[in-house]
Amino acid sequence: MDFSIDPEFQQKLDWMNQFVREEVEPLDLLFPQSGAPYDKKNTRALKILRPLQQRVREQGLWACHLDPSLGGPGYGQLKLTLMNEIIGRCSWAPNVFGCAAPDSGNADILAMYGTEAQKTRYLQPLLNGEICSCFSMTEPQAGADPKEFTCTATRDGDDWVIEGEKWYSSNARYAAFLIVMAVTNPENKPHERMSMLIVPAETPGINILRNVGGMNDSDEEGHHAYIRYEKVRVPLDAMLGKRGEAFKVAQARLGGGRIHHAMRSVGLCNRGIEMMLERAVSRRTQGKLLADHQFVQGMIADSAMELEQFRLLVLKTAWMIDKLPPGSARMHIGMCKMSLAKVLHDIAQRAVHLHGALGTSRETPLAKLWMGAPALAVADGPTEVHKVQVAKALLKHAKPASGLFPSEYIPHKREAARKRYQQLLDEPQKS
Ligand SMILES: Cc1cc2nc3c(=O)[nH]c(=O)nc-3n(C[C@H](O)[C@H](O)[C@H](O)COP(=O)(O)OP(=O)(O)OC[C@H]3O[C@@H](n4cnc5c(N)ncnc54)[C@H](O)[C@@H]3O)c2cc1C
Repeated sequence: MDFSIDPEFQQKLDWMNQFVREEVEPLDLLFPQSGAPYDKKNTRALKILRPLQQRVREQGLWACHLDPSLGGPGYGQLKLTLMNEIIGRCSWAPNVFGCAAPDSGNADILAMYGTEAQKTRYLQPLLNGEICSCFSMTEPQAGADPKEFTCTATRDGDDWVIEGEKWYSSNARYAAFLIVMAVTNPENKPHERMSMLIVPAETPGINILRNVGGMNDSDEEGHHAYIRYEKVRVPLDAMLGKRGEAFKVAQARLGGGRIHHAMRSVGLCNRGIEMMLERAVSRRTQGKLLADHQFVQGMIADSAMELEQFRLLVLKTAWMIDKLPPGSARMHIGMCKMSLAKVLHDIAQRAVHLHGALGTSRETPLAKLWMGAPALAVADGPTEVHKVQVAKALLKHAKPASGLFPSEYIPHKREAARKRYQQLLDEPQKS
């Protein structure tokens, strides 16, 4: 196993590290409003953003999650992990590097399932960073359990007519189009009841009831839309993928999204640990530096070890996605998803705590870091759902013990061991 990084790629990472810290992080401070990186009408922010995106393109680092056929360098997930660890440090960086969620996932499914016309109209401008998009799946009464979805699309002549409510449709207020999951075949099996429809944002009947703010957003009004679709009409060719295949289409985007969140949370944790280290060697109490107190040393060591374990899991998962047949990394993606919020929470909590009152204030990035953890435990499916899937994947290959006791039952194993070496054990011992 070789953990070294190709020196040429390391140079790119070094460039990114400096670029993000010096040129991109200021955007988080100048435009901290929730969803600000997705607002394509904020000309003041765009004046700064566009030249930064151009520099990323010149470095060949634009939209690195994409294959060359779609305009990316085709680096694969392993290199993407190392990049996302840097990009994850701040809110604006994913947009500067052309890999922001949910646009990256939406681009993936448009590339995989879109018709040529859909690709021209939606995919290309999305890849160019000219527009942003929304993925509208979760329902207020159903969470993300497709068996409970009630938002329907009914065929009427040459149109689909969408009716129902969606919850937490991030960035709907800024999106040029929404990808909506709706029940088109209620008579089918639960996972074959829904289809995916592309709805241009200007279509009449898209009623945003509220833009919900997350707890880590800086303003009351947020960017997670509660939407009522009121007789929203789209033509038949607005369907993305086949009728009844929305679940399959959604799965294709969620795997990538989950691992990208995991990679970026490594970046967030790194930022928290960097701050802990600086604090520990800056602040004195009881006649010595915090760094010289064993409790503090314990916090630092626990944080570093937990992050290293998590990071290795993410890197291995990325490697599996790159090298093994499609679907092989599913269980590992679930493991990344179920670990990430806990690792981030525990590290952020220690970093906040080490900074005392200042840590609990809004005057360091730590408050946002800490408040980001609950959302990561819920977005893309709650932790429990992933735990269940990981356990089921392992249990599928488990075999029951053949008798009353486990196959590792020592009295039986000792008996078997004796039998195996009986002849040698029976030979007279030489003195
Ligand atoms: C920041 C953020 C952005 C989001 N963006 C989008 C978006 O762009 N588009 C979109 O469609 N959705 C989006 N979502 C919604 C997200 O997909 C849902 O929040 C998530 O799937 C869970 O649904 P829920 O919030 O209704 O929680 P619920 O389903 O009500 O779950 C609440 C809790 O119940 C328990 N629980 C739920 N299911 C199980 C289970 N199977 N086994 C055991 N316990 C369980 C867990 O403790 C869970 O945390 C976003 C969410 C967040 C937080």
